[in-house]
Amino acid sequence: MPEKLQSSFWAQFAESKFGPNKKLIVSDSGDKVRITKMTIIIKKENIAPLIKDLQRKYDVYAPVRKGDLYLFEEIKGKKKIELDYSTTILPPKNIFFPTRHTLMNFNKNRVKIPKFRRRILLFGIHPYDAQALLILDGIFTDDPHYSERRKNSIIVTVNDKRTPNAFYTELDHNYNRATDLFLEDTGDFYIATPKTKFGREILNSKFFEERKINTNNKASGKSGSKLLNLGGIKSSIEKGADRKIWAEIAEKCLGCGICSYVCPVCHCFDIEDKINLDKVSGCRCRIHDSCMLYEFSLILGRINFREKLQDRIHNWYHHKFVRAPLERGVVDCVGCGRCITFCPAGIDIKGILNRLQSGTG
Ligand code: SF4
Ligand code: SF4
Repeated sequence: MPEKLQSSFWAQFAESKFGPNKKLIVSDSGDKVRITKMTIIIKKENIAPLIKDLQRKYDVYAPVRKGDLYLFEEIKGKKKIELDYSTTILPPKNIFFPTRHTLMNFNKNRVKIPKFRRRILLFGIHPYDAQALLILDGIFTDDPHYSERRKNSIIVTVNDKRTPNAFYTELDHNYNRATDLFLEDTGDFYIATPKTKFGREILNSKFFEERKINTNNKASGKSGSKLLNLGGIKSSIEKGADRKIWAEIAEKCLGCGICSYVCPVCHCFDIEDKINLDKVSGCRCRIHDSCMLYEFSLILGRINFREKLQDRIHNWYHHKFVRAPLERGVVDCVGCGRCITFCPAGIDIKGILNRLQSGTG
């Protein structure tokens, strides 16, 4: 982690999540391991009762099915969770950094900041989404609105088996680093591997049991695919916005910003003050924004410093693959593939990265 991120808040945050002197727990190697020892498991039929039990203590969010798609929703009543899912439309960042977040309500000179009393438990997210949250933690280090929700939250990940367009195995992230408890689907049951004290807290539930098993366990979300050449991608992007590749993308792109809204790492926002009709009360909100939108770079006097869509597209890639690694030591992409799946123009970031890395863009 870059030195400048090691602020006192971040140190406290790491300690509260991972225990003293541990900070971040590094994952298993990902190699295949033959297990012949007592292992903690949870049967699939015990997931629903476990969630019900956890709801007494936490606000539980998990993937649910909506037609052919999936969403993360707060689990209340009889809502059925779906752990064998492809990917959700919107990422889990929206739980800690909502699309529209009321930062404060005001009435004359009185100000009220909404408080959250219960801890959030995010159950069944994929390891790439957990990695995205870890990246956001570094970005929102000093943001009390994000941190208040996030700092005592618990992340339970489950291995991903079928996310379309995903390429997280080609990025050099450590995808198990951000999880508190990792569940690996073996068919009839999940093998539960705690990574932090928060993960061990969940294992106290009566629904987990010990079992002697003998199986091949691949604990990591990685599969040894060839990694993208991030150095080559960076050099191509640094050649500037007037290259052929950006013009080609701009011909197809609608400038709609969907790629930013579905991205688990994009974090542009705007602040909006809404005044009620009484003219003395209202609220201040933070709303998601996208640097792909024309209005994003429009300033006073109707001057737009990124008027051309081509420049905005180049900036989107530049931020993720050049500025973010320089500022924070990590690319702002976890390879979830959502921006490919949901782009109405069929623009494929993976194909673009392949061209950039080989210098053909
Ligand atoms: S979602 Fe596709 S069309 Fe819309 S701004 Fe992003 S790349 Fe362009
Ligand atoms: S840029 Fe695309 S692939 Fe990368 S994290 Fe964002 S949505 Fe996923």
